[in-house]
Amino acid sequence: MTLLSPGEASFSVTAPVLVIGAGACGLTAALTLREAGRDVLVLERDASPSGSTALSSGMIPAAGTQRQAAAGVTDTPDLMAADIQGKAKDRADPAVTAAVTQVAGSTVDWLDSLPEVDLPLVTGFLYPGHSVERMHAPPNRTGEALMGMLLTAAGRMDIDIVTEAHVTALFAGEDGRVKGVRVTRPDGTVEDIGCDTLILACNGYGGNKTMVAEHIPEMAKADYFGHVGNQGDAVRWGVELGGEAKHMSAYQGHGSVAVPHGILITWALMMEGGIQVNAAGERFSNEHQGYSEQSVAVLAQPGKVAWDVFDDRIHKLGMEFDDYRNASDQRAVVHANSVEDLASRIGVDARKLAAAIAETHAVGTDRFGRDLSVNPGLDAPFYAVKVTGALFHTQGGLRIDGAARVLRSGTDDPLPNLYAGGGAACGVSGPEVSGYLSGNGLLTAVTLGRLAGLDVRKS
Ligand SMILES: Cc1cc2nc3c(=O)[nH]c(=O)nc-3n(C[C@H](O)[C@H](O)[C@H](O)COP(=O)(O)OP(=O)(O)OC[C@H]3O[C@@H](n4cnc5c(N)ncnc54)[C@H](O)[C@@H]3O)c2cc1C
Repeated sequence: MTLLSPGEASFSVTAPVLVIGAGACGLTAALTLREAGRDVLVLERDASPSGSTALSSGMIPAAGTQRQAAAGVTDTPDLMAADIQGKAKDRADPAVTAAVTQVAGSTVDWLDSLPEVDLPLVTGFLYPGHSVERMHAPPNRTGEALMGMLLTAAGRMDIDIVTEAHVTALFAGEDGRVKGVRVTRPDGTVEDIGCDTLILACNGYGGNKTMVAEHIPEMAKADYFGHVGNQGDAVRWGVELGGEAKHMSAYQGHGSVAVPHGILITWALMMEGGIQVNAAGERFSNEHQGYSEQSVAVLAQPGKVAWDVFDDRIHKLGMEFDDYRNASDQRAVVHANSVEDLASRIGVDARKLAAAIAETHAVGTDRFGRDLSVNPGLDAPFYAVKVTGALFHTQGGLRIDGAARVLRSGTDDPLPNLYAGGGAACGVSGPEVSGYLSGNGLLTAVTLGRLAGLDVRKS
């Protein structure tokens, strides 16, 4: 039982706005409220906030930013929305897609203007499905840095973040109005905290094996690389309150996680000309379709692994990423002076590997539909990383409107005082893994956090 009657509560304190979860979404919502002088209390189950945000590459897509203008990149919310719908095959919610793309530019500009935050435009490569360079990320391209920036800003703005505060139940009336929450401390003590408004920013259900098996059976046995604390609380509470779960089969997978190191190997390597081969040394897919759906393709290979294969030019690009440097330090990156040498080092058939590499010098579209003309072919010396496919985060969640208000099931009426953002809300990827456009995760975390905060500020 996670919904309790308000009569059972014993509120020690009441906050005008409660936010559950101190990741990118919760912190952006809280910063938005504090910016307007509003009181907000953030509840976080961990001792030190990190969430999936800290595990990410910190890449936030946004259109029409000052950073883009400075770099001469022309972009618009409409173009970004078209890219999102192109990847999602027009099955992303149009109202939410319009809302997040409209506000993304001003949100990134505003975050970037905070003294603690630095979000330069990522240049030099495009992720699959993006028409222009629109990723903004901390200089070292880590979510850890992004979390550090947001937390430092929150500290300066005197935002109250209560850690080790695991919300285990909500108090709500018959009409779905949330009156408060129950917090369970690590020592088992409970505390009830009242609220006028609740923002659910506690991500999705990637850490809940039962929910993953139910909604995303193809990933039931895959490794999960997101934050384990994301147990699907938001979607369960929202549904019990009268809301609706949507696109629960959607998720962000990734087809390039180094094994056994468990380090994300940036997809930029593939977009700049790298290929993936299986244990036989053969290519098996169009690597330019998207890293999310590639998780499924890699997991379908013998041993559930593949090798990212690339050359020195691409290795140098990889070295711009902290994660890749870390993988290199941990000897995950194999170096070889010739195809034969590489084949012997990674244990694949040399003739097949040679054929796969030779293919990169071809022009036109290959049998998988990849346009080989867009990148230079691979030349010695070569590099390879053994990778597997993994589940990163879930994209299904509570159905919301363009202001991040949770909608009553089957209607467009919002619940009285409930908002959801980030992984707690249904994202903009449609119902399938292939609908995930790179950056959709942090996009909906920061923009829906911003939109929720702005809407609450109106009251
Ligand atoms: C390896 C990896 C790489 C990624 N790279 C990118 C990228 O570059 N760009 C991108 O757009 N997306 C990326 N993503 C996805 C992105 O990280 C998420 O979409 C985003 O961080 C979600 O933010 P959030 O605020 O909703 O959730 P989180 O950052 O997970 O924060 C949720 C917080 O809620 C807390 N919480 C949960 N339940 C409770 C509860 N009951 N009570 C109290 N607290 C609770 C959790 O402890 C957590 O701190 C990546 C994900 C992974 C795993």
